[in-house]
Amino acid sequence: MKVQDAIDTCIQCGFCLQSCPTYRIFRTEESSPRGRIARLKDVLSSAVEETAENLATFEECLGCRACEAACPSGVPYETILLVGRSRLRALQEPPPAEARLALRMVRSHVLLRSAQRLWQTRGNRALRLARGLRSQRSAARLMAALPAPAEVPAVPREARAQAQIHRGCVMDVVWPRTNARAVLLLREAGLSADLMPQSAGCCGALHAHQGDLPTAREMARQVIAAFERSGGETVVSLAGGCGAHMKTYRELLADDPDWRERAERFSRAVEDVATLLDRQGYRTRPPATDERITYQDSCHLRNGMKVQAAPRRLLAGDGYCEMEGAGTCCGSAGIYNLVRPDVSDVVLEGKVREIERTGAGTVVTANPGCELQLRLGAKESGGRFEVRHLVDWLWERRA
Ligand code: SF4
Ligand code: SF4
Repeated sequence: MKVQDAIDTCIQCGFCLQSCPTYRIFRTEESSPRGRIARLKDVLSSAVEETAENLATFEECLGCRACEAACPSGVPYETILLVGRSRLRALQEPPPAEARLALRMVRSHVLLRSAQRLWQTRGNRALRLARGLRSQRSAARLMAALPAPAEVPAVPREARAQAQIHRGCVMDVVWPRTNARAVLLLREAGLSADLMPQSAGCCGALHAHQGDLPTAREMARQVIAAFERSGGETVVSLAGGCGAHMKTYRELLADDPDWRERAERFSRAVEDVATLLDRQGYRTRPPATDERITYQDSCHLRNGMKVQAAPRRLLAGDGYCEMEGAGTCCGSAGIYNLVRPDVSDVVLEGKVREIERTGAGTVVTANPGCELQLRLGAKESGGRFEVRHLVDWLWERRA
């Protein structure tokens, strides 16, 4: 949908306001979805001047898409956000240094692995290299919350497997064990599965959400081409943010005649791992009553891919308790926790309180960014709960 059509769908009813984390913090119209939509409308019609200051509200937005889920009018807010951010970015040349660094790193396994090694060997001293960045402190906190490197189970290759797991960027470097376990779980569930070739690279979600749409398109073409070469039929995502973004390749490449149909086919093929396992009837040893667990939705899995029930069915059992506000953002939001720790911390504090109210000893989530953010929350609040990716939780409880 074109951005003007998306804006025109908004009837200004305000039903989305209470679902919006930034509105709940700041209580201003400008920090609400309705305010952001109105601001872009005014900018596009030249009713207000197109300045970085007038578009700054799009940088404050978490991009969680909770407003889309709450909207009775079906406003595709993601379309509006991407345009708002790309126009803001054009006014902000060069973009903030931390955003530039993060966007560069996710495109290179070499850079990601070097940063990981540097952190493992030098710890906080490694961050001297990042001296001068506003976000040095948030980077240090997040690095300290990363999971320790773990042994990765062997995954025998399967030529032209039907289900191809998109490895991701940070996921492939920090969570390779989770990727490998997902392949083995899918095979146990009766599917032909393997890891997509590493040449697929990063999905480009961060670039799109930071407003760099030309690079996001280039990255989308690379992922599509790698998937086509794999001979697979299904693209499997273990990260809600990546899965939801890959579902939008059809819109991202809609104006490219050479790629439109390929992108359409690719987006239709994207599924999340929980949906596939659930559809196959995969079940694991349910949690015991004394093993209280809860689930935190990934915003993009829930609001972008519309997946809520499948992960909950996989976790069901006497020990499962639903958390109030499980569908609201944890404050991770791509690199938001790096570039806007002021807002992200407030959102995370609320989330930690919600988790603690459930009395759960483990919170399960389906996105590596959420896992890292919740690990940070657990660490800084005294560690009363553990955090697991859904795939790891299922693996540890195979029947
Ligand atoms: S985005 Fe949807 S819910 Fe929010 S004001 Fe517009 S029409 Fe209403
Ligand atoms: S995406 Fe999230 S933070 Fe942004 S306007 Fe919508 S609800 Fe608010």
